[in-house]
Amino acid sequence: PPLYKQRYHFIKQLVNKHKPKKVADLGCADCRLLWMLKFCNCIEELVGLDISEEVMKENMYMLSPLPSDYLQPSERQLTVTLLQGSVAQKDPCMLGFDMVTCIELIEHLEAKDLEKFPEVVFGFMSPAMIVISTPNSEFNYLLQTVSLFRHPDHKFEWNRTQFQNWAVEVAARYDYTVEFTGVGEPPHGKDVGFCTQIGVFVRKKLRNVEPDRFEEYQRRVYTTVFKIIY
Ligand code: SAM
Repeated sequence: PPLYKQRYHFIKQLVNKHKPKKVADLGCADCRLLWMLKFCNCIEELVGLDISEEVMKENMYMLSPLPSDYLQPSERQLTVTLLQGSVAQKDPCMLGFDMVTCIELIEHLEAKDLEKFPEVVFGFMSPAMIVISTPNSEFNYLLQTVSLFRHPDHKFEWNRTQFQNWAVEVAARYDYTVEFTGVGEPPHGKDVGFCTQIGVFVRKKLRNVEPDRFEEYQRRVYTTVFKIIY
């Protein structure tokens, strides 16, 4: 299967294993991962965030209920919300999530936004689990790309050491553990790592929330683009 499907499949397996109720996908783009996750019965709240309203709107209708959802209403409550905003900004509606996914997002962030990202996602949102994927530059020579990066909008592509150093430092700073894996196996005998590298971060403490800490962030900064209650 294509690499993006392998990434989504990886997330789906994690969801089925850990059964989060509230899941947010940051940099959700055309909502394809959200669409897949809508079929995971443990999820009661799904939120997608992207800086681009247009890209979210492309396939937004896919998230609407199907005729069968009306004919055979399920026991479970499901709310799907799409928000326009930046991962460099804190918004109170991102509090209280069990899992946050950031699939092929960080390499699109400008240096100043990448610097703010850990404080927003780990420090503020502080979900029980965070999954971050990004290209592994060591794999690039196998892809026969002529350009420097795999995509013209990439601001950087990291090798395994660069990603793992960044991830370990962030995990230590915000009291998470991190484990590394990936999707897209290298050809036999090549020690270049996975094509897509993935860090799975787990919060050490049960809850990291001190309500008074968030008083200054009561203001909504994201805008709601779409909301559907099943
Ligand atoms: N996660 C999707 C997937 O796996 O198919 C697509 C990721 S796409 C390569 C990167 C997305 O990040 C784009 O849709 C882009 O608009 C979004 N993005 C870039 N900067 C962002 C920011 N500061 N905050 C939120 N989203 C951002």
